[in-house]
Amino acid sequence: ASASFTRLKFTHLPHLAGTEQNLKYAEQIKNEWQEFGLDSVEMVPYDVLLSYPNKSQPNYISIVDHIGNEVFKTSLAEPVPQGYEDIPNIVPPYSAFSAKGQPEGDLVYVNYGRTEDFFQLERQMGINVTGKIVIVRYGKIFRGNKVKNAILAGAKGIIMFSDPADYWAAEVQPYPDGWNLPGGGAQRGNVLNLNGAGDPLTPGYPAKEYTHRFSLEDGVGLPKIPVHPIGFHDAIHLLKNMGGEIPPNNWKGALNVSYMIGPGFTDDFKSQKVRMNIYTNNQVTRIYNVIGRIRGALEPDRYVILGGHRDAWVFGGIDPMSGAAVVHETVRSAGRLLSKGWKPRRTIIFASWDAEEFGLLGSTEWAEDNAKLLQERAVAYINADSAIEGMYTLRVDCTPSLHTLVYDLTKQVGRFKHTTETETCKYFFMNSLMISKLGSGSDFEAYFIRLGIAAGRARYTKNKKTERYSSYPVYHSVYETFEIVEKFYDPSFRRLRAVAQVRGGLIFLLADSQLLPLDVNQYADSLRKYAQSIAQLAQKNPNEMETYGVSFDSLFSAVENFTVAATDFHERLEILNTVRIMNDQLMYLERAFIDPLGLPGRPFYRHVIFAPSSHNKYAGESFPGIYDALFDIENSADPEKAWEEVKRQISIAAFTVNAAAMTLTPPA
Ligand code: GLU
Ligand code: ASP
Ligand code: CA
Ligand code: ZN
Ligand code: ZN
Repeated sequence: ASASFTRLKFTHLPHLAGTEQNLKYAEQIKNEWQEFGLDSVEMVPYDVLLSYPNKSQPNYISIVDHIGNEVFKTSLAEPVPQGYEDIPNIVPPYSAFSAKGQPEGDLVYVNYGRTEDFFQLERQMGINVTGKIVIVRYGKIFRGNKVKNAILAGAKGIIMFSDPADYWAAEVQPYPDGWNLPGGGAQRGNVLNLNGAGDPLTPGYPAKEYTHRFSLEDGVGLPKIPVHPIGFHDAIHLLKNMGGEIPPNNWKGALNVSYMIGPGFTDDFKSQKVRMNIYTNNQVTRIYNVIGRIRGALEPDRYVILGGHRDAWVFGGIDPMSGAAVVHETVRSAGRLLSKGWKPRRTIIFASWDAEEFGLLGSTEWAEDNAKLLQERAVAYINADSAIEGMYTLRVDCTPSLHTLVYDLTKQVGRFKHTTETETCKYFFMNSLMISKLGSGSDFEAYFIRLGIAAGRARYTKNKKTERYSSYPVYHSVYETFEIVEKFYDPSFRRLRAVAQVRGGLIFLLADSQLLPLDVNQYADSLRKYAQSIAQLAQKNPNEMETYGVSFDSLFSAVENFTVAATDFHERLEILNTVRIMNDQLMYLERAFIDPLGLPGRPFYRHVIFAPSSHNKYAGESFPGIYDALFDIENSADPEKAWEEVKRQISIAAFTVNAAAMTLTPPA
C-alpha cells in the first residue's frame, strides 16, 4: 500500500467533501484506475446537503459575565502541525449540520451523553436540563446519538469535548512527538441522526439535478440545537468553575477539575453564563463518487464491490486515506492480473465514495441510484475506510455467512507472514481474531442494512476490547497526517499490507470462486446465539412475560428450521452440480432478512437480524426490533401495549427467519 500512500499523493492537501481539492483527487483516482487497466471508470455526481462554517463569522463558545463581557473564548482553530503551516483551506473544528444560534445559559455535565447517562442524571439525580446547555465528553458512542439525547432531554445547546481519559494513551506524547491528541486538538464530525436515509433532503431517491428536495425544515436527521466540539485545553475553562452536584465516580475524566455536574457555576461565578456562537450553514453541494469496473468473464451479472470514502475532514492521514490507499493498490494489482490475461468470474466494482463524513452520503446515494440492479445482482460489499485505528491486531466485522471465509483467509495471511512478521503471527496463531457483527458509521450501511447485501470490513485495531468506539486520539483532527502513520502507526507499512491482503483477498475470492464462499451454517449458529441472548434479556421480566403471554418459542422453532435448511443446503452443495442455482440461493440469503417495511420509525433500516443500535450508531444490535421493544420496558407508561409490541416483534423475527430458511430449500 505504501506506493499510493505517500504524503504527496493524497494526504498533502485538505480534501473536504464538496471542495475543489476533493474533486481533483477524484479525477486523479479516475485517471489512475484507467491506467491500471479497469474496463471502465466513471465519475458519478450527486447534489447533497453539506454543512460548512461561515468563513466571515467563526464559531466559538464564550463565558459571559453579568454585564455581557466575554471573559473567555474558545480557540478558533487547532495549532497546525509543523510542515503544514502554509496550507490553505483547513476547516476549523465544527459539528457539521449544527443548528445556527447563540444560546446562553448554565452548563450541565452529562458524562458521555449516552442514554444511560441521561437516565442517571434525570432519574437518580433528579436534574432537568430543559433550557440548559449540555456538555459531554466524546467517546463510547456516535456523536449524533449524544446530540439526539441532549435534544430529547430539552437542552438548548450541546458542547462535546475530548477528555484525556478517552483520547490520551499512557506514556505516549502528544503529536508530533507521539500519537496522542494535543490539548488544542478537537474532533470534527457530523451530528446527524439519519437512520440510513443518506442525503437529508432526498430520502429514498438519488440526489440528482432533477430530484425533488425537501425544505431544510423537513430534512431528515438535522439537529434543532447548536452543537460544537472543543479540545481539552478549552474544556478546562468551561468545567473548572462548575458547581452543583458531585459527579458519580465513573463520570470523572482525567482533567484536573471537579467534574461537578452543575447546573451552572459555583456561587463565586454564579453570574457567569456560557454562550455558544454558531454560524454554520447548510448548503446543497455537488459531490463525486468514482466507480470503476472489471467485467466478469462468466457471470458479468454478479457484482462484488470494494468501496471506501475519499473525503476527509482535513488531510485524512488515517481516516480515510490509509484505507483509500488499500483500494488503490487493490485496483493496481487487479490491473496487473488483467494484463496477464486473468479475468474474474464475476464483475468487480471499485468505489471511491464522497461525503462519507457528512452522513455516508456518496455511498447511500449511489445505493439508491442503483438499488434495482444491486438487489438483483450484488453478491457482497467489502468496506475500506481507515485501515488502522491501532497497532495491535486485526479487527473484522462482517455478516455471519462470511465468518468461515474471513477465518480461512486471515489464517493464510498469517501464515504468509510467518517467516517475516512475528507480530502478525502472534496474533493470527494465538487465534485471537475477533470477528464481530457490523454496526454502522461507515459506507457499508446502505448495502448491508438497507439492501441486504452480505458485507464486511477489516482494519488494524488497538488492544482494547472494551473501548471499541472511542476510535484513536487524533481522530478527525488536523493531526491526522501522513506522518502520524509513517512515524507511529505503521512505519514498515506491514499493517497496511496485511489489511490490503484481507480486504483484497475477500474481493478476489468472492469474485473468482466458482462456488460462492458463503457459509449459511455460520448464519444458523449466529441466529441461535442471538435468539438465546434476546430471549435471556426478556427473561429479566419473568412476571410480565407470564402475564402478557410472551413466548420465544416461535423464534426458536424458526431458528431450528433455518438450521436444518442450512445443513441440508451444504450437504446438497457437496453432491449437486447446479452451481448457479445454489450460488443464487447463497447470494439471496442476506436479502431474505430484509423487511420491506423497515424497523419501527427507521424505514431505511430494513435488516431484521442486524441494525445500528438505537443508542449508538457505531454498534450493531441483533434482533433490533425485539431489542428496542424491550428497552426500558420496566418504565413503560403502558406495559400492556409495550409487551404487545414485543410479541409483534418476536413474530416478525420468527416469520423472517422461517422465510429465509425457505430460500435455502430445493427450488422444486
Ligand atoms: N464516519 C463518520 C463519523 O463517524 C460518519 C458516520 C455516519 O454519519 O454514520 O463521523
Ligand atoms: N472511522 C470511522 C469508522 O470507520 C468512520 C469515519 O469517521 O469515517 O468507524
Ligand atoms: Ca437520496
Ligand atoms: Zn472514515
Ligand atoms: Zn471519519
